[in-house]
Amino acid sequence: MSQNFATAPVERADFDRYFVPVYAPANFVPVRGKGAKVYDQHDNEYIDFAGGIAVNALGHCHPIAVNALKAQADHIWHLANSFTNEPVLRLAKLLCDKTFAERVFFCNSGAEANEGALKLARKIGLPKGKTKIVAFNNAFHGRTLFTVSAGGQPKYSEQFAPLPPDIIHVPFNDIDAAKSAIDDKTCAVIVEPVQGEGGVLPAEPEFLQALRARCDEVGALLIFDEVQTGVGRTGHLYAYMGYGVTPDILTTAKALGAGFPIGAFLTTDQIGKNLVVGDHGTTYGGNPLACAVSLAVVEHIASDEVLAGVKERHAYFVKRLEQINEKYQVFSQIRGQGLLIGAVLTEKYQNRAKEILTLAAGERVMVLVAGLNLLRLTPSLVIDFAEIDEGMDRLESAIAKFVANA
Ligand SMILES: *Cc1c(COP(=O)(O)O)cnc(C)c1O
Repeated sequence: MSQNFATAPVERADFDRYFVPVYAPANFVPVRGKGAKVYDQHDNEYIDFAGGIAVNALGHCHPIAVNALKAQADHIWHLANSFTNEPVLRLAKLLCDKTFAERVFFCNSGAEANEGALKLARKIGLPKGKTKIVAFNNAFHGRTLFTVSAGGQPKYSEQFAPLPPDIIHVPFNDIDAAKSAIDDKTCAVIVEPVQGEGGVLPAEPEFLQALRARCDEVGALLIFDEVQTGVGRTGHLYAYMGYGVTPDILTTAKALGAGFPIGAFLTTDQIGKNLVVGDHGTTYGGNPLACAVSLAVVEHIASDEVLAGVKERHAYFVKRLEQINEKYQVFSQIRGQGLLIGAVLTEKYQNRAKEILTLAAGERVMVLVAGLNLLRLTPSLVIDFAEIDEGMDRLESAIAKFVANA
């Protein structure tokens, strides 16, 4: 009798048997979620402070996203880009209305958004002999060959050499280093307003201002990678708005679909029109299902109420983390913006962030790390305060065990 694959039982161990082993997932398998709660195969309940790494901006199965997806599912799912569609047209208008942008390119992921932005910058720069790209140490821009090369973590790129040339890295938040690296051969500077994977490290406002001024001086494009900081994460629709520094190109993905894959780069009319028919593209870019979900999600998050709620929740999370720290002295710094929060481990607990993550899962709260020394929280932007309390109680139990074992 042949097996029915749709109903056959599966378990965590199947991951190790069948997958190219580039991930090390937790030892439980989530099967459903509602708000900031997730349930595994045995119906254990978890509080989700990971939010799919800044993706599930409205938590799990929010009615606004579910209804948008269901409604579109009965209309049309996909068209080649030789046809346009209503959801993508509406989403483009919304993003241009709410941001500096006048033109949009849609794709499927953050890496692809950055890839497109960098290609656009190279195309504009090339005829003028401007091909250099300036990026920053510890930056993260995705996993394509161009974007790992722009990223500032050699462990993600050097094994895949030879790499695309003419990309240089300077220390983040170092104005002098950036100013001297950015010259008349530079086509673009790419920077995260808050470094996410690199350790939840916000840019100094003066740093972004200096990049803006220097790019204007030499005629380079300033690209803000807002894949992690975008769509309300920092308490602003995009982080650039909080800084008051406007990029030439902005990349966005992660929360843009709140769990449905979509990415985009946004730019001005002047810059965007340099890519013409045939220059760039992607099969699923502007997919109606993705755009219908994104339209509903972005419109909701762009409200003053949701954005103010992010700032309130930030203060509450920080207060709870500080209370835990008063008892256990595990963190040397709590930093970040909005609901992109990092807690740096003290000297005493160097390189042990992953242990806290594992203990937290045991206490049924999902958290993230960034690097070896930083606990990262990127929960739903609309998480209930009761869920924050419950999750923080569980995190505190995990940290009590961590300290006791240390
Ligand atoms: C996650 C991330 C990316 C890559 O996005 P993918 O969708 O994984 O390709 C790029 N830049 C930043 C800042 C990110 O956080």
